[in-house]
Amino acid sequence: MVSRVVFGRGSFNQLDEILAPKRKGRNAPFIFYVDDVFKGNHWLTSRITLSYKDKIIYVPTKEEPKTSQIDQLVEDIILEHSELPSGIIGIGGGIVMDIAKAVSLMLTNKGESKDYQGWDLVKHHGIYHVGIPTISGTGAEVSRTTILTGPERKLGINSDYTPFDQVILDPELTKDVPKDQWFYTGMDCFVHCIESLNGTFLNAFSQSYGEKAFELCKEIFLEDTLTKEDAQDKLMMASWHGGMSIAYSQVGVAHAMSYGLGYLLGIKHGIGNCIVFDHLEEYYPEGVAMFKAMKAKHNIQLPQGLCADLDGHQFDAMIDVALSLEPLWENAIGKNWKSVITRQKLLELYQKM
Ligand code: NAD
Ligand code: ZN
Repeated sequence: MVSRVVFGRGSFNQLDEILAPKRKGRNAPFIFYVDDVFKGNHWLTSRITLSYKDKIIYVPTKEEPKTSQIDQLVEDIILEHSELPSGIIGIGGGIVMDIAKAVSLMLTNKGESKDYQGWDLVKHHGIYHVGIPTISGTGAEVSRTTILTGPERKLGINSDYTPFDQVILDPELTKDVPKDQWFYTGMDCFVHCIESLNGTFLNAFSQSYGEKAFELCKEIFLEDTLTKEDAQDKLMMASWHGGMSIAYSQVGVAHAMSYGLGYLLGIKHGIGNCIVFDHLEEYYPEGVAMFKAMKAKHNIQLPQGLCADLDGHQFDAMIDVALSLEPLWENAIGKNWKSVITRQKLLELYQKM
């Protein structure tokens, strides 16, 4: 679990105060990874104080993080600084938060990040790391994984060392998120709830968080009663609860298939989940009906025909990635999932997208 968290509009102002006691010396900098959408954004960046060798690195977010990118970022830090950093701070969406987590781990664990993709392969504590979400939904701020695309697979580094040491939840930071992106990333949270609550791994711990996140999502995306600020506050908490829910259970069909789309076509997590979930009536009938109502209410048009021109090898590559995520299928379908989820079944689903 995340050991420390502050919540509240304006809580980002406490950043300096939170970091100061963690400074290890003049040569041990704080490295801030900031989503490049905030480049030149004085409102946000003026509140990051740089001392000694501290550095802001702006991160482009067109593509999701790769293991090679993490290895490069780690090498850059090692070459530039004589000591390990005092802390790694990620300010942005799921991409930037995952980068901060992965860099923190790879600074203290030998070798290449691709070798740690999987479950509980990390041996040592990472560098002190702080997550500050600027868009809500992924639950990356609370989860024990950092999702990376490697040479062979898209898979998280899941470990007890992955969660942030500190999170700052300031809903005000989400005020300028574009509407479509707000929906896609918000639906990531909604899909986490549906997959967790309808999974065979469900337990009372996951259920209590999942139900809360689900209630919040319904309020935010289907009702008209909230002010803009309340909706931002609540979506930030829905993301947190959705993340907590899957931390102790698992995601399901939409995530498994969306990883395939992401791996082959570079389709990002949030929109990829939406594209897949739209076709999953057979597995999540009520959730999909609710999703379609949300989509209509917010006038969201999803891309169609993405797989229309793919050849057999390309479908195979997506199906391989999806099928490799065994715990997700076991959660979604049960222990006998292999007799239900055939390659033909996945091919037919992908062909609809
Ligand atoms: P993202 O990080 O790609 O951000 C989406 C877009 O929103 C970007 O273009 C970004 O620049 C923009 N943006 C972010 N904050 C903004 C703001 N305040 N104002 C204006 N624009 C803003 O998207 P995401 O959906 O947050 O994250 C997706 C990533 O998270 C994927 O890489 C996925 O694999 C990962 N993920 C991780 C976990 C986990 O548990 N670690 C869970 C789910 C998803
Ligand atoms: Zn997700």
